[in-house]
Amino acid sequence: MIPTPFLSGKRVLVMGLGKSGTATARALAASGALVTAWDDGEAARKAATEAGVTVAEPALEGIDLVVWSPGIPHTHPAEKAHPLAARARAAGIPLVCDVELLARAKPDTPKLAVTGTNGKSTTTTLLTHVLVQAGRDAAAGGNLGTPALAMPDLGPDGRYVLEMSSYQLELVDSLSLKAGVLLNITPDHLGRHGGMEGYVAAKRKLFDHIAADGTAIIGIDDDYCEMIADELQDRGMTVVRISAEETLEQGVSAADGILRVDGQPVADLRSTIRLPGRHNWQNACAAFALARADGIACDDIVAALATYPGLAHRQELVAEIDGVTFVNDSKATNADATEKALVCYENIHWILGGQPKEGGINALVPHFGRIKHAYLIGDAAEEFGAVLEGRVPYTQCGSLVMAVTKAAATAETGDVVLLSPACASWDQFKSFEHRGDVFRQLVEALK
Ligand code: ADP
Repeated sequence: MIPTPFLSGKRVLVMGLGKSGTATARALAASGALVTAWDDGEAARKAATEAGVTVAEPALEGIDLVVWSPGIPHTHPAEKAHPLAARARAAGIPLVCDVELLARAKPDTPKLAVTGTNGKSTTTTLLTHVLVQAGRDAAAGGNLGTPALAMPDLGPDGRYVLEMSSYQLELVDSLSLKAGVLLNITPDHLGRHGGMEGYVAAKRKLFDHIAADGTAIIGIDDDYCEMIADELQDRGMTVVRISAEETLEQGVSAADGILRVDGQPVADLRSTIRLPGRHNWQNACAAFALARADGIACDDIVAALATYPGLAHRQELVAEIDGVTFVNDSKATNADATEKALVCYENIHWILGGQPKEGGINALVPHFGRIKHAYLIGDAAEEFGAVLEGRVPYTQCGSLVMAVTKAAATAETGDVVLLSPACASWDQFKSFEHRGDVFRQLVEALK
């Protein structure tokens, strides 16, 4: 837990009592802040109360600071933005997220950050693995895993590796980064940011936090990011471009699977990293560039890339049963992430559906040739069925258990059963992790 002595005696309101809100309320109270906390959900209030948090109807009178859970809309869409955020702003009370408090509490511990639409968690954990293997005392947190204030209390030789969502980027101010990467930008969370422009603006904020002697790293494989890279360069920042699509004369690239620094080969990623797909070359380039910016030697980084075990729920190889491979890609909650999985395999029995996102699966039509059969679950089933109709044979399964049963019964030696839903999980599951865990259990039961 990270102490926040600068808030001792201050009145702090914590809004949102998920994992990070609860951890924040506890950490602040332990440092002597006068904390009250609230969540509009009764279950969250109950759980937080049981965890020792003082829960009370939110009131702004006398409040010095509001710590806002990034998951609660505070600006867009206007009709969904929580009214308390606007009231706090009007009253001149600072509205921040927990990462801001980490930044204020630990100004002397260098920080590296990762943002982007997809690949954040992989890159964050890959980089942390590289740093730890190279002997650094590094810890990962933020948007993934450990909430910011529940991270270990590191000294100036330590490193905080922060996964930052666009929501968190809107709620930080003091953060100063030794290096940060923006991996990519594709449409996602548009409702929350008032459209693409707002989303791009939120992601671009990462670079406002690069220290004067820090490094801005950016994936240039999409037009939005490419434009931002040019802008940063014009601003005179130290910019390192990364690409998994083209070989860069300057920057870190892996267009052909060979990791290159300024065009010079450094490692063959196809035999080095255990992660499948070109998108993971982008993540490897990002982790490499970040670790280099932190002073780690090239050979040490390459050696560490080879021992990274991968993350659960991201194209996770669950089992091979009678020649059929079962892959859990539950984390693919949008079409772009699912596309990355589809291009890795052939003869796919594709389990998809859940709570649909804007755009659905229309962008995936070019990859339908790789799919032998689709199995639809959840709220999106009808909408997705209409896209598959006449293109791919499919079965309406309703539940994941039915989908796994049918896919396993149909798949033949050499086929791949892939859970890559292209949807959020909340219609049928608590989270994407829950969905992936259920898939894993169902597959284990087939053995
Ligand atoms: P995030 O934390 O940004 O959601 P993850 O690393 O958890 O990203 O990966 C989420 C999903 O996105 C996975 O299904 C994975 O296959 C896919 N993915 C991973 N890296 C990338 C990338 N660089 N570009 C596009 N998709 C990616």
